[in-house]
Amino acid sequence: MSKITENPCSPSGSRIKENLRLVNLRIEKAARDHNRNKEAISLLAVSKKHGAESIIEAFDSGQQHFGENYVQEAIDKMQQLSSLDITWHFIGPIQSNKTRAIAENFSWVHSVDRLKIAERLAKQRPAHLPPLNLCIQINIDEEASKSGIDLAELETFVDQLQQWPQLKLRGLMTIPQAGASEAAFRRMQDVFTRIQQSGRCPDFDTLSMGMSADLETAIACGSTMVRVGTDIFGARQT
Ligand SMILES: *Cc1c(COP(=O)(O)O)cnc(C)c1O
Repeated sequence: MSKITENPCSPSGSRIKENLRLVNLRIEKAARDHNRNKEAISLLAVSKKHGAESIIEAFDSGQQHFGENYVQEAIDKMQQLSSLDITWHFIGPIQSNKTRAIAENFSWVHSVDRLKIAERLAKQRPAHLPPLNLCIQINIDEEASKSGIDLAELETFVDQLQQWPQLKLRGLMTIPQAGASEAAFRRMQDVFTRIQQSGRCPDFDTLSMGMSADLETAIACGSTMVRVGTDIFGARQT
């Protein structure tokens, strides 16, 4: 019997579908291992540097939330995919001159770390759209070159963000230093729980942490949204 070859017109074939299945199994297993309800953990498929056809394949396999890091690249894909009911999340660094495009096109932003940026997003959020869901990015390892606020600034930042009804503060996001992520994830879980229990933030339900390499550790530490790129779509061209 000859080996069945992949369709050359669609080189990724059913690979994305199979990868998604495996990532969802990893999430379920991690939830089971750590006594978490799997329904409380959602998967954000990070599609940066991958084309619309890859997103279609993931969408057709049941994936609905997609994360993008570059505004123009994302908007190009949104235009190609406007007929699909996708929820778009912005997860990259935010430049001031991009806030309008973000406020007009995304449902979620995970990478807010300056009040000035939050204010622009609030003022530029179109009135006909629901409030923009927002996570505060934390620089949990206090790395000099990394985006995100320090933990010491968090409580003030949370209170200041409540002033804009166009923004709905949903939680926290972090990208820990490669390697030593468990202690960092635990610190995130602690502050997340503290703010949640303080009751000052009614919609605070999202702890966005964990990527391809460390999603199990993040789930062990309370993550409610893992952001996975490589293990769904394959390696990115740089
Ligand atoms: C690229 C990216 C991811 C996905 O990382 P992988 O290692 O490819 O899973 C997650 N979060 C953010 C903020 C990213 O920029």
